[in-house]
Amino acid sequence: MDLLPRTLFRPEHDAFREQVRRFCEKEIAPHHAAWEEAHAVPRALWQQAGRQGLLCCWLPEELGGPGGDLLFDFIVAEELARIGATGPGFALHSVIVAPYIAHHGTASLKARVLPAMARGEAIAAIAMTEPGTGSDLAAIRTTARRDGGEWVIDGQKTFITNGHNADLVVVACKTDPDKGSHGVSLLVVPADRAGFSRGRNLRKIGQHAQDTAELFFDGVRVPADHLLGEENRGFRYLMQELAQERLLVSVGCQARAEAAYAATVAYVRDRKAFRQRIADFQNTRFQLAGLFAQLQAGRSYCDRLLELHLAGQLDAVGASAGKLWHSELLGRVADECLQLHGGYGYMQEYPIARAFVDARIERIYAGTSEIMKEIIARGVLDDPQRR
Ligand SMILES: Cc1cc2nc3c(=O)[nH]c(=O)nc-3n(C[C@H](O)[C@H](O)[C@H](O)COP(=O)(O)OP(=O)(O)OC[C@H]3O[C@@H](n4cnc5c(N)ncnc54)[C@H](O)[C@@H]3O)c2cc1C
Repeated sequence: MDLLPRTLFRPEHDAFREQVRRFCEKEIAPHHAAWEEAHAVPRALWQQAGRQGLLCCWLPEELGGPGGDLLFDFIVAEELARIGATGPGFALHSVIVAPYIAHHGTASLKARVLPAMARGEAIAAIAMTEPGTGSDLAAIRTTARRDGGEWVIDGQKTFITNGHNADLVVVACKTDPDKGSHGVSLLVVPADRAGFSRGRNLRKIGQHAQDTAELFFDGVRVPADHLLGEENRGFRYLMQELAQERLLVSVGCQARAEAAYAATVAYVRDRKAFRQRIADFQNTRFQLAGLFAQLQAGRSYCDRLLELHLAGQLDAVGASAGKLWHSELLGRVADECLQLHGGYGYMQEYPIARAFVDARIERIYAGTSEIMKEIIARGVLDDPQRR
């Protein structure tokens, strides 16, 4: 399917994409259904990906990474999306968690953690959400208190992506519970610490190969230098880094929507009803033409957001608008494409069925559509600089 030509990538990105595509087709696609049954991907896959330079691609060599740029990580995300592989949580590890440590960790923490993350030997997660609060991050109740040279963490998190496989977790804690968002700090917790435990690998309606866990912290002790940045400034760091997380959702949604569309074009060309191809009904043609136009708009929008982000110019409002728009685009595309498959669209072995259920979460995690609208509205209506 030819959408608009993309101008972001250099020849080394194109060569890398070919390498990632081969890896996805050989090492991931044939096994993904089994991982969906197992509700996790094997740890060995992470090490394979690390050896191929597919993890933390943007991380400079001096911090133990391959020394590429963010586009390489986004290529990995796009290629996984292209084959509908929702299991490997590489993007969360590389594009969401690693930056917190690289931007806010001490030199010794970075040296201990980041090279292992790039090699796929340490799998990372980020834990903000709790059973009692998700959107209202300032209301978290997990606490960290200083005791000599250590932090002591107590509390509970839920819905944590990579939670079952994780070797280390960036945990949002209250270090000054009376100060709301000004009392939040981020701590890196290795999973082998006494008092750390995992609950159920949660059963979801989609993204079955992705491990999603409850985490418990019962007097977990970590050294003082596991604090990221300054005490009580965690909320600010979260707000800064969430723009990149939301851009990643835009990138993934656009790629998934394109894949769902391509599968549907192939299906309607093949399937017949009333002695003609489904592709020959005017309804099918108009639906697919309309979606094509939306995908073109989405592709240009997504690449422009990427370009702005690489130039350091994508702000919270811009990233939120993109996340809102692309996650809703994917919802529409998956729904309309499923309809064109008829009953087969409801059968799990058809990629469109999985794409449909896998898509639903995109409007919820990384900030719900309603929270995205709130951020955009605040920017448009309340920020004097935007008036
Ligand atoms: C599969 C999966 C993976 C996840 N991965 C992670 C992870 O790795 N790390 C992590 O920390 N979290 C993760 N999450 C949690 C996710 O980010 C939260 O579920 C999400 O932010 C919503 O929070 P909530 O579930 O508590 O919903 P709530 O905050 O309870 O929201 C319920 C409803 O109320 C609406 N609402 C809330 N506040 C407002 C408002 N101010 N105005 C209007 N409407 C509002 C919401 O939009 C929603 O429709 C994951 C969740 C899932 C399901």
